[in-house]
Amino acid sequence: MSGATPVLLTFDMDAETLWTARDPAGDSKPVWLSQGHYGPLVGLPRILALLQKYDITATFFVPGAVIERYPAQIDSILAAGIEIEHHSYSHAWSEGLTPDQEREEFQKGWDAIVTATGREPQGWRSPAAEFTAQSVSLMEEFGFRFSSNLFDSDSAHLLQDGSRVTDIVELPFAWTLDDAPFFLYSNRLPGRVMAAPSAVAETWCREFDGVSGENGTHFMLGMHPQVIGRHSRLWALEQTIRHVLGCGTGQFLSCSAYVDQIRNPLIDAAAR
Ligand SMILES: [Zn+2]
Repeated sequence: MSGATPVLLTFDMDAETLWTARDPAGDSKPVWLSQGHYGPLVGLPRILALLQKYDITATFFVPGAVIERYPAQIDSILAAGIEIEHHSYSHAWSEGLTPDQEREEFQKGWDAIVTATGREPQGWRSPAAEFTAQSVSLMEEFGFRFSSNLFDSDSAHLLQDGSRVTDIVELPFAWTLDDAPFFLYSNRLPGRVMAAPSAVAETWCREFDGVSGENGTHFMLGMHPQVIGRHSRLWALEQTIRHVLGCGTGQFLSCSAYVDQIRNPLIDAAAR
């Protein structure tokens, strides 16, 4: 479908690491951690069934520690033909890491993906929604072809390291297009409230309508199996999928398939 708006469904399967990253003592808090168990054990099968129902693809970003802890669930993602990309090893928030520790997060996460999937990851999403001073150069060193981190645009563009333009494609998204600001709740996360699924479906459908009328934009959702995997929230996602399909103006793609389409033209344009 040429000219269609790329629709990039992304799932960050953080499992327990979402909670251990927020609380160093989290390993000793079984109830706190159990919020994370829900993602791979309960949310994931529902998500895969939903994708299969509509015969659409997606992209999973998974920390290496989660890949090692949930081999059967990783196999179920791969059996569905869905790609797994890099989301650190332990999900440690990178601003608290030394340069050597951040490099180790890159290496161990990379190794876990190659071991489990037989494929080198193509893209990297920060676990902290932030870069350190060396994150972009580490992405280059490891040979990543895309990054999905910035909130600066609705269109793909080449990532910059300071003023230097790299060959890495940035696929931006936004908090508006993420399930966590609407739904992530814990009695230990101050100030959090939960949104109505209908409000989320309305937000996402209207965002799609807007970008699908523009050239060069994409529609990316960022979700977490432990958050979106509840039935009421999956309803919001399914409404969005049905809306996109009903409009006939979107094309569901994996991130790497979209990057395959646009990377060389972006590099050529930058070289002119
Ligand atoms: Zn994450």
